[in-house]
Amino acid sequence: MTIYKAPLDDQRFTLFDLLGAEAILTRLQGGAEHSRDLLDAVLEEAGKLSEQVLAPTNASGDAEGCHYDKATHAVTTPKGFKEAFKAFSEGGWAGLTAKEEFGGQALPNVIGTSTTELFQSGNLSWSLYPLLSEGACHAMELHGTEAQQHTYMKPIVEGRWTGTMCLTEPQAGSDLGLLKTRAEPNADGSYAISGTKIFISAGEHDMAENIVHLVLARLPDAPAGSRGISMFIVPKFKVDANGSLGERNQAYAGAIEHKMGLKGSATCVMNFDGAEGYLIGQPHKGLAAMFTMMNAARLSVGVQGLALAERAWQNSLNYARERLQGRALSGAKFPDKAADNLLVQPDVRRMLLTQRAFVEASRALLYYTALQTDIEARGTSEDERRHASELVAFLIPIAKGVVTELAQECTKEALQVYGGHGYIGENGMEQFVRDARIITLYEGTTGIQAADLLGRKILQLQGVGFKHFVAEIGAFCKTHAGDTKLAALIAPLAILAKEWGELTQSLAQRVQANPEELGAAAADYLWYSGYVTLAYFWARAVAAAEAGTQSEAFKQAKRDTAAFYFARLLPRTLMHKAAMVSGAGTIADIA
Ligand SMILES: Cc1cc2nc3c(=O)[nH]c(=O)nc-3n(C[C@H](O)[C@H](O)[C@H](O)COP(=O)(O)OP(=O)(O)OC[C@H]3O[C@@H](n4cnc5c(N)ncnc54)[C@H](O)[C@@H]3O)c2cc1C
Repeated sequence: MTIYKAPLDDQRFTLFDLLGAEAILTRLQGGAEHSRDLLDAVLEEAGKLSEQVLAPTNASGDAEGCHYDKATHAVTTPKGFKEAFKAFSEGGWAGLTAKEEFGGQALPNVIGTSTTELFQSGNLSWSLYPLLSEGACHAMELHGTEAQQHTYMKPIVEGRWTGTMCLTEPQAGSDLGLLKTRAEPNADGSYAISGTKIFISAGEHDMAENIVHLVLARLPDAPAGSRGISMFIVPKFKVDANGSLGERNQAYAGAIEHKMGLKGSATCVMNFDGAEGYLIGQPHKGLAAMFTMMNAARLSVGVQGLALAERAWQNSLNYARERLQGRALSGAKFPDKAADNLLVQPDVRRMLLTQRAFVEASRALLYYTALQTDIEARGTSEDERRHASELVAFLIPIAKGVVTELAQECTKEALQVYGGHGYIGENGMEQFVRDARIITLYEGTTGIQAADLLGRKILQLQGVGFKHFVAEIGAFCKTHAGDTKLAALIAPLAILAKEWGELTQSLAQRVQANPEELGAAAADYLWYSGYVTLAYFWARAVAAAEAGTQSEAFKQAKRDTAAFYFARLLPRTLMHKAAMVSGAGTIADIA
């Protein structure tokens, strides 16, 4: 059985001390009431829901999994999931960040991100049901007609229905241009959707009255490839003009996947057999429409990495404190006990500090990015909104790609701290490792994030967001240049920020000469960028802690973890730089 305590102190520190969220949020359009007091209260309530309702269903949901009934195509979720969803809906959490006109509370995205972290730590599998719903709502808000928003989005915001995103097909994964699902026009203006989608999260379940599928499909006159894809709303139950549920639509789960982790999340094969669907957005522009909401979805998956790593870290720290084994190298620290605890071993502390360093800096990166999405949406000038939007576009592949990969390392180290006891099911650590494995795969694999960062955000968009971010690091280093408490961090950070720019320049030139250089450098460029980005947030964390009113122990932990990060983790940039500059020629062809 694992423990979980909402990390409210670090969340508050990150939001209000490190990022200065209150001052930013209250000056944004519609933000006058987004005071620290209000946001604090929201966080605290979310923490209770996570600790008391969600966290207890995590291990039992993993053990039980979802059940599929072949005769009825029905899916039953594990015990406690339905009740948790009811508590979530009744608490108004489904509409936390949705606009008031749709029944939401219009709270900032950065608060949605912080509460999502709490829910995902509580039970990652369960959290996928509301997460996919949020994605579907987002798509309808941006691209739906008023009638579509009223009919299909409002009930999701109210927590009565859920949504899905149906993209993947057996032959179409990363390359959605290959998808085959068809949409034939009906006489009444609707469409008959036919095809098979695979791996659809929350495709079928027993937690809500209706499910709104957002399905990518091709119209009869669609051009081949990614320019011929349209998006459709396909409800599980058709809905009449009054919003009442009618006939069952021809959209059924054909099976659920048996998978490595995330067992409480129903991953469905969805068969659409002439199902009634409604075009959303412009014909043939479905993929572009899907991409407009991709940032939010990718950020949320980055948060999944943080959420799992946080819970795994809490447990491994707790275990290391209690487990008595061996003696300290320099002599017994607890001579009255049979042995010292694991914390006396530098190697165990290395594993713990690695987790802490990644968890807390990832939180800062993810919340920072979410705060930029608030500025992007509600900034007070066109310039401010554009600047934020460019920063978000640049940071998303790092926030998704790097944080989800680091979660693999964190959950692995957390298990390692338990020794063989980590490998045993009843201690719950192996579930974190299994659950974490998916997050580097869905919402764009790490390879796709790397290609997006270097190919699109740096080369295609001329690195506009990158330039903003490096300028911000430069300004921070300048402001703190004479600060002796930060001297050990500022000097290496300034050097790396400069090197990052030079490496980017030289890569751009190499890719121009040989496009294969892009694919050969992308993953190392992503990692390098991630480590420098986290170094910036560690330096900011120490600056904020030095200026803050937290306890001395809290401040010292920030200083110690930052020093650890700079000494022992940041040097990984050297390896990634060496790999990058070795060029495409060092990756041989394989027949
Ligand atoms: C549990 C689970 C839940 C999911 N939920 C959903 C859902 O709700 N809705 C939905 O539509 N889909 C969902 N998916 C599907 C998921 O998004 C895809 O599996 C993912 O996009 C990768 O596609 P693929 O599996 O076909 O891998 P492929 O595209 O075949 O990729 C295989 C490997 O090749 C690499 N690769 C491929 N193309 C490139 C490239 N251009 N550049 C560099 N590397 C490349 C990839 O990085 C990867 O390592 C889910 C999957 C799982 C397992």
